[in-house]
Amino acid sequence: MTVARCRAAWVLPIAGPPIAGGVVSVESGVITAVGAFDGGPVEDLGNVAVLPGLVNAHTHLELSWLRGRIAPSRSMPAWAASLIALRRTTSPDPSEPIAQAIVEARRSGTCLVGDVTNTFATYEPLIDSELSAAIFRELVGFSSPDPEEVVAAVAGEIADLMPIAWLRLLIAPHAPYSVSPALLQAIARWGAGKPFSIHLGESAQEVEFLREGTGEWRALLETLGAWNPAWAVPACGPVEYLDRLGIVDDRLLAVHGVHFADAELARLAAAGATVVTCPRSNRWTGAGVPPVERFYASGVRVAVGTDSLASVEDLNLFAELAEVRRLAGGVAAARILESATLAGASALGFVSELGSLEPGKRAELLAVRLPAGVADVEEYLLSGEVDAGDLTWLRESITRERQP
Ligand SMILES: [Zn+2]
Repeated sequence: MTVARCRAAWVLPIAGPPIAGGVVSVESGVITAVGAFDGGPVEDLGNVAVLPGLVNAHTHLELSWLRGRIAPSRSMPAWAASLIALRRTTSPDPSEPIAQAIVEARRSGTCLVGDVTNTFATYEPLIDSELSAAIFRELVGFSSPDPEEVVAAVAGEIADLMPIAWLRLLIAPHAPYSVSPALLQAIARWGAGKPFSIHLGESAQEVEFLREGTGEWRALLETLGAWNPAWAVPACGPVEYLDRLGIVDDRLLAVHGVHFADAELARLAAAGATVVTCPRSNRWTGAGVPPVERFYASGVRVAVGTDSLASVEDLNLFAELAEVRRLAGGVAAARILESATLAGASALGFVSELGSLEPGKRAELLAVRLPAGVADVEEYLLSGEVDAGDLTWLRESITRERQP
């Protein structure tokens, strides 16, 4: 459906409070006005809520073929070892499940993903899709002899890919226990001023590794032949570790943060960094229950991700939001919705285009059918009762022309 000016039971600009009977105007794929109805011709959409497309700030689409193949675990390193073993059985990651996952994400209301890839296997499927993406080419290497060369090689791969306006290519380290300090810094230098995503504070074993240099992650590195005996144990928490390396700033996406202390959250908040919470994945991998209430209480920017289909049932952000709501009963619904829209778009570098309904932004408008008698539309969107059948994209993405 193409819409020039529509009226809905509720319009949720996210940048401001919900508007009962609000109107959104669109021209050439761009929002031109959002506000209360003040007369004039309008298409009445009826009992729906119109909101910006959702932002899944952390996923790994290339792992979609692993859906349901790795059982939930009590130990995240054990879970990761299973993932590594299974992944070694197939290369490259099969593309058909990637395409299916993209379709599923779009049907469940997502317009933008922060997608982590080891191979760029997701690049072609994303070109062919309606999703926008920050694509993080993820590096692993705890004992790389020449980090600058590793980064330069990947930068060369990026330069060889066809530039696409709605796909942004970045480099990201996997985690503090799998990437050496020199490689972390080399990636940060390459990406100065760009979003910098890293799995951080995810497992208790990561905290042990950084504080003591021991534990299951150390054992896994040794098993994989990746341990570096010259590594100096930092004897601090994950946020301080990154801070000492000079990479805690407003470009940082600290993904998971299940084991962050209050002081670490305060440091991230002061830096303008973002915590990306993926609570359903954390339960599946054995990482634990993220302290979502504390995330919000700290004032840090909070975005939401599903993580990959290897550790979550689906890529439906409405389902993830229901879990966030369950874990953070005292947080205002508006803040949680902002996490799944504006906060994610900001962290991924798309805030001038997506994440809220404001003039000048792309018209990625999602209509959610409401049942009769909904008293609190924001709370309803977090209820877990929204399913893909209730969703309609009011206007498909703006015309996508390949850049020269
Ligand atoms: Zn991840």
